[in-house]
Amino acid sequence: MMEHDRLKNALHDLDDEELRRFLKNPSLRYPTIGVNGSELYDANGQQVLSESELQQMEGELESKFSEILEILRIDRNDPNSADTPYRLARMWVRELLAGRYAPAPAITVFPNRKNVDELVISKGIKIMSVCSHHWQPITGTCSIGYVPRDKVIGLSKFTRIVEWFARRGQIQEELGEQVADFLVEMLDPIALGVVIKAKHYCMIARGVEAHHSSEMVTSVMRGELVSNGSLRTEFLSLID
Ligand SMILES: [Zn+2]
Repeated sequence: MMEHDRLKNALHDLDDEELRRFLKNPSLRYPTIGVNGSELYDANGQQVLSESELQQMEGELESKFSEILEILRIDRNDPNSADTPYRLARMWVRELLAGRYAPAPAITVFPNRKNVDELVISKGIKIMSVCSHHWQPITGTCSIGYVPRDKVIGLSKFTRIVEWFARRGQIQEELGEQVADFLVEMLDPIALGVVIKAKHYCMIARGVEAHHSSEMVTSVMRGELVSNGSLRTEFLSLID
């Protein structure tokens, strides 16, 4: 069992006093500190880095990816592999994990002047993420619906928020929770639902080798979408 799993399982067995002692231990609190002094967070955590820090990260990654190619006994004289370490470094830092290092998207919130009290839905939002476990792509779509209270936002902003959270190492369950937490914090809606349907290439390319049409569906409901069954049915039929 991995050290991390052992720790997680052990935490379930702690009584209150033991848990308090655990949380006081500075070496077990986030962030932990890496060998070169940098702060380390969960794969779907986030810290804003400057352009020069990102460039340094790319350079260090490129040399490590060169070593990885050698370990895999791939000749860099192969023209298709010559610049692969550079391409990999750039892809991970600037694309696949970009949300970890970028500030939250700027979102303007507007007053709900017309007192809209029906579901507002955006569906077909692109999900492009990577799984924390295998670093394989997760691709799919996300639907978000909310019933506003005092605030509304432009629907296109949902795309930016989902993108920011998706461009990290993720597991689908936590991606939906992170998006929902962020929107509840920003909008304080009467109801909110986040439904994600996605393919996991770690299940398609390896492991059980599931058919590429197989999808994982997760839903996060908040507020009246938890307590009001007919509202939930309406939401789910509208995003279908
Ligand atoms: Zn995976």
